Amino acid sequence: MGGGPAKGLSVTRDPNSFDAVVVGAGFGGLGAAVELAESGARVLVLEALNYPGGCASTFSRGGYRFEAGATLFSGFGEGQLMRTWIDRHQLPVEVDWLDPIIELRTPQFQLAVPPEREALIDAFAAFDPSRRPALQRFFERQRRVADTLWELFDDPELLPPLTLQSLVRHAARSPRYLPLLRLMNTSLMEVVAQEGLHDFEPLRIYFDALCQITVQVSADRAEAPFALAATDYCFRGTAHVRGGIGVLAESLCQAIQTMGGEVRLADRVKSLRIDGGGWVVQSRRGTVRTPLVVANLLPQNLRSMVSTADGGALRRLDAMASRVEEGWGAAMLYLGVEADAPHGEGAHHLELVADPRAPFVAGNHIFCSVSDARETDRAPAGQRTVTVSTHVDMQALRKSASPGAYVAQIQKRMRATLAKLAPELHAGIAHEMTASPRTFERFTRRAHGYVGGIPRTKGLEHYRGIFPAPVMPGLFLVGDSAFPGQSTLATAIGGARTARAALSA
Ligand SMILES: Cc1cc2nc3c(=O)[nH]c(=O)nc-3n(C[C@H](O)[C@H](O)[C@H](O)COP(=O)(O)OP(=O)(O)OC[C@H]3O[C@@H](n4cnc5c(N)ncnc54)[C@H](O)[C@@H]3O)c2cc1C
Repeated sequence: MGGGPAKGLSVTRDPNSFDAVVVGAGFGGLGAAVELAESGARVLVLEALNYPGGCASTFSRGGYRFEAGATLFSGFGEGQLMRTWIDRHQLPVEVDWLDPIIELRTPQFQLAVPPEREALIDAFAAFDPSRRPALQRFFERQRRVADTLWELFDDPELLPPLTLQSLVRHAARSPRYLPLLRLMNTSLMEVVAQEGLHDFEPLRIYFDALCQITVQVSADRAEAPFALAATDYCFRGTAHVRGGIGVLAESLCQAIQTMGGEVRLADRVKSLRIDGGGWVVQSRRGTVRTPLVVANLLPQNLRSMVSTADGGALRRLDAMASRVEEGWGAAMLYLGVEADAPHGEGAHHLELVADPRAPFVAGNHIFCSVSDARETDRAPAGQRTVTVSTHVDMQALRKSASPGAYVAQIQKRMRATLAKLAPELHAGIAHEMTASPRTFERFTRRAHGYVGGIPRTKGLEHYRGIFPAPVMPGLFLVGDSAFPGQSTLATAIGGARTARAALSA
């Protein structure tokens, strides 16, 4: 960690020349920048906003500090990436463990989702004890798949570029890979059905809700290996970040600078072009040169930024962009609520489904995250913040003659779902701000406000981008549209492994 230059990189002291430039300080960019800085590269991070984190940031407005999008985070367990960073760089980040992690509420039932798999099986079996053996079989299978996949990400040695030693380790693990191959091109609900649980309504609703917020598609359409790995969302060191996720993003920026890197906020990148074998990066505040650019952008944003005659690269970006356009936008309510609303003082998360037979989007399904009452800097005295989100169908929005009215209708439904299923929070609302895909576009600059990455709909195409590869020589893409995809942990892991691959290339 730290120290001399990374293998193959030159020592450079020209203030306008860097070993690597990372465009965007979302968790994909931060993951890449930390990895590059740790290997000794002189790295520059350019971020358009005046705070880091992107969709997983904390912003200040009108006396409140709201989490912009992401609110519940995994990867804080021993040996997992967020914990490793906190320990290695002594980041001033405190996390609060939660139990339950999420409270799922529907008109028919409530489910307190615990942080352990066994306790979740107990909670489901409480609805129907005769289901216990099938639940145990299913979740044991889920555990094996998730462990195999997440271990690949937790252990850098297992990822390409493969050495002789890592190949030997893979060979030893091969019996664990075979069941994964059988699950490819299968939906999560098909796997649930194999265990005879397809007609068990609480499990179906739980998976539809979980899959919508993780792999961005309902359980009957979700590609099984991705969905089974995402089922670990509540079991993999999942926690609340004290003060909001922005505290972690800011601390990572600090760590990058301590290692000799530079982070320039409020410095939007305007263009990228190749010149003399390297990249020229033009930003609002100047021009820098580098042999390696890591772009934490949507492919369509990168395409509009890069000047190149490389038709192959542009076609690859266009193909990725069209996959992003299968995805979603987000509608938000940022609320200040009276702190004495019941629930205890800790941060907590409610997932509310008004009609479990309708699609889990557009205000029918909302995710509400309440800040910790002890985070007194996040709201005026006596209040707590609540970030409420739902999915927005972007094809319908972009076709709508009145996009503003379309989103307002969704926000109205969000309020109705909150009033119906969490009346204790709804009754305490003292302040409200709203956001739409247009707001996300304005702040994070994501084209049209697409968030959440590529929906992992059943199919083999998701395995194509599994190995980090440059878009063009010296230009890599990270973030939620690159493998492994969405969530702060997944984008951070993706950023780190892409940086590793770039360094060894
Ligand atoms: C509403 C919502 C709720 C979510 N909830 C959760 C959750 O609870 N838990 C979880 O783990 N995940 C959650 N997610 C997903 C998670 O937030 C994302 O997967 C992740 O944050 C995406 O990170 P990213 O690096 O891909 O992109 P981004 O976060 O979009 O970061 C890109 C960065 O690049 C910057 N940028 C853009 N253009 C330029 C430019 N030209 N020059 C310089 N900088 C630029 C942007 O300002 C931004 O900071 C949620 C997402 C949303 C939208």
